Amino acid sequence: MRKELSHTRAHTLDLPKEPEQLSEVSRETSRALQKQSKAVDAARKILELTGEDLGREGLKDTPQRFAKAYQSLLGGYSLTPAEAVGKGVFASEGNGLVSVEDVEFYSMCEHHLLPFWGKATVAYFPDKKILGLSKIPRIVDIYARRVQVQERITQQVMEAVRDLIAPRAILVRIEAQHLCMMMRGVEKQQSQTMTQAVHGFENLADFERQQLIRLMK
Ligand SMILES: [Zn+2]
Repeated sequence: MRKELSHTRAHTLDLPKEPEQLSEVSRETSRALQKQSKAVDAARKILELTGEDLGREGLKDTPQRFAKAYQSLLGGYSLTPAEAVGKGVFASEGNGLVSVEDVEFYSMCEHHLLPFWGKATVAYFPDKKILGLSKIPRIVDIYARRVQVQERITQQVMEAVRDLIAPRAILVRIEAQHLCMMMRGVEKQQSQTMTQAVHGFENLADFERQQLIRLMK
């Protein structure tokens, strides 16, 4: 008994001291690995249902590739807009229109888990702050890389920019094509879906409003 106790104590002493942060990181790693192995299982099940031979060469690593691809396609959950923007908020030196147009994005429709993709335009009239230009595509990606509907991404991007820099007015416009409409259902190949979210229009002078209206198309 005593021998065992001293053995345990010696063993404990031999362990390297782990800072709490490190163990938090390893907990996160193990959660991520668990998630990944569940995704691999799920992909295998979907493939099995097709009647395919999962042992054949081309499919051997497909479940793993699927899990990895989806991890990146749906990677938008891990960041908040404030984290993505970091120190990219600056004092405004003017109050004229700032517009970042045709930001490409890829997303996943929440009804069919099929991709939709397109371009986002974000335009705002600053008050006291502006955003680093590269931050706008990052904000779009945070929301696009989730299971989504186009209307919600549009609204969320508008709200994120509004909350980060409180501009006098903002317009977000998204144009996209949906694979679930192209490949199944109505099978419309050329149709574009357009969504817009506007905030603070009433704060603008007439000539400024005209500038935003021109971007709405
Ligand atoms: Zn859909």
